[in-house]
Amino acid sequence: MANYTNMELLRFLLFEVHPVQSLFKYERYSHLDAEQAWMIVESAKLLADQEMFPYLKEMDESPAQYDGKGAVLTHPQIKRIIQLAAEQSWIGGAAKFEHGGMQLPEMIFNAGQHIFQAANNSVQGYLGLSTGSADLITSFGSPEQIATYVPKIYQGEWQGTMALTEPQAGSSLSDILTSAKPVNNDYYLVKGQKIFISGGQHEGADNFVHLTLARIEGAPAGVKGISLFIVPKFRPEPDGTLVYNDVYCAGDFQKMGQKGYATTHLSFGDNDDCRGYLVGEPHQGLKYMFQMMNGARISVGQCAASVAMAAYQASLQYCKERPQGRVPSEKDPLKTPTLIIHHADVQRMLLTQKAITEGSLSLAMECNRLYDLVHATQGDEKATALLLLEILTPIVKTYASEQGSRSAALAIQTLGGYGFTTDFPVQQLYRDLKIMSLYEGTTGIQSLDLLGRKVTIQNGKALSLLLIQIQETITLSNQYEDLKLYGIKLNKDIQTFEKVLNHLLGYLQKSDPDRFLSDATVFMEMAGLIVIGWQWLKMALKAKELLQSVNPNKMTQDFYAGKIHTMEFYFKYELPHIDACANTLMNEKTLTNLKELDFF
Ligand SMILES: Cc1cc2nc3c(=O)[nH]c(=O)nc-3n(C[C@H](O)[C@H](O)[C@H](O)COP(=O)(O)OP(=O)(O)OC[C@H]3O[C@@H](n4cnc5c(N)ncnc54)[C@H](O)[C@@H]3O)c2cc1C
Repeated sequence: MANYTNMELLRFLLFEVHPVQSLFKYERYSHLDAEQAWMIVESAKLLADQEMFPYLKEMDESPAQYDGKGAVLTHPQIKRIIQLAAEQSWIGGAAKFEHGGMQLPEMIFNAGQHIFQAANNSVQGYLGLSTGSADLITSFGSPEQIATYVPKIYQGEWQGTMALTEPQAGSSLSDILTSAKPVNNDYYLVKGQKIFISGGQHEGADNFVHLTLARIEGAPAGVKGISLFIVPKFRPEPDGTLVYNDVYCAGDFQKMGQKGYATTHLSFGDNDDCRGYLVGEPHQGLKYMFQMMNGARISVGQCAASVAMAAYQASLQYCKERPQGRVPSEKDPLKTPTLIIHHADVQRMLLTQKAITEGSLSLAMECNRLYDLVHATQGDEKATALLLLEILTPIVKTYASEQGSRSAALAIQTLGGYGFTTDFPVQQLYRDLKIMSLYEGTTGIQSLDLLGRKVTIQNGKALSLLLIQIQETITLSNQYEDLKLYGIKLNKDIQTFEKVLNHLLGYLQKSDPDRFLSDATVFMEMAGLIVIGWQWLKMALKAKELLQSVNPNKMTQDFYAGKIHTMEFYFKYELPHIDACANTLMNEKTLTNLKELDFF
């Protein structure tokens, strides 16, 4: 079977770079040890090898399709695979014991999800949505709501979805129109249209639990008037029967990628009989939904890293088998052609992919670990983890999806003409990956969030905490003469970053928020480059430490040396883009904030 991920890397990230075992001292995770944790991750690999990867291509060639009668037909294996994954706790595994979970750290649970994402990102989509929906209900729902919906979702019988987007309200959720009319303090009658709903009413599940944003009649305008409802397709009645709840699947969207993953148009309340059950307090819906969205944003970033990883693995394998041409110093045309992996430019493409995918995966692990600390700790430690998570969430989502697309494009380029054909998976992975920069908030929206909100929250506390973390890694790298230089370089880039930020904040002080935010995406690019530089320095530092302390065998030595080499590559080829971003951001000329649009 072709490689779609690298288990040695996963083990290195989990146990060395972001040591998951340090979490086992907390009560929440004290039932685990390192050996068990790794066995759980390996079980995910087995499931993905047997049940997910083999259907990757088929799901692309036979997309999920609307049947014209209110349902989406999925690949015939989807229902069975969801069931299998549920049985092995890959939907509810991170939930607390009291909710039927295994109380796994997100780090372990998401290491498994990474394997699924790399093997077959469409299948993992269904699982991830259900996990997020059930988490939302357990966090904010009533005990009765938890008892009614969560076990069914964790058992894989019912599919959870998130229903936010409407035809006129995509990025701007404040413009949501779906209405909710209270009936007898009991339930609400929901009416409206939701589009682009992933995992919406398809064949692979018996019922659907749509976590739906709607406006209670008379609610204030804007985001302050949005509430969260559970709107099932079939509502459970007190006698245990299920009654159709007037949520109709009116169609689907045929897409360029993730074709195995149903994307639906849902119509709520066409017959005025769609009951929604309020979650938590009225008008707090967006706040609640953000819990799911923040988790989903990290998951989307991780998924982008995982799909790019699968493309990288496919291109790496091809380069080791494809002979073509000779290196420039070989003048003899009678010599057999060399494998393309010997060409410097091919190595550049491979190393770029390696730097992006492994760097992004490391950042996703960093975020998963912070999530675990939020769950396991209290007081200052918890507050610090939360703030770090706040600032890193838009960065992991954006860097991994934007650079992941570039990485997957390089995977195609690495194969030459064959990369463009359907004989190889890289073109599918490239298409599958593109959605990651769009859903859960586009790159533009993530960038506004980073510059407009996250760097200034609590007077810049989240950013200073992040910079302290990076400085700690730089200080540690000083102990190794050959890493010191890279620490110095990263430090210099942080100074550039801070200078640019102060410059931009100047616009805010001059009450010019439009100008302040007009190049937020360039600012995001800079932040992403620095944060991934930090991850690479962390990985190189750990590799150096292990090379010196444990006397590894040749294969492991190569693995660690590969980490240091890729860090050096990243610092030489990728990090210098920071200066280009800084030049653009410091340039006073305004070219994009135009009021006159005639020349477009
Ligand atoms: C395959 C797929 C699956 C999806 N799954 C779900 C799902 O399960 N549930 C759900 O609720 N939604 C889902 N979505 C919807 C998705 O979240 C939205 O498509 C996305 O948020 C963008 O909204 P939009 O498509 O309306 O684009 P728009 O909001 O119209 O954006 C168009 C462009 O304008 C830019 N833009 C918009 N506003 C601003 C601004 N204020 N400042 C700067 N630039 C701006 C955007 O960055 C983008 O480049 C899905 C979408 C797709 C395609």
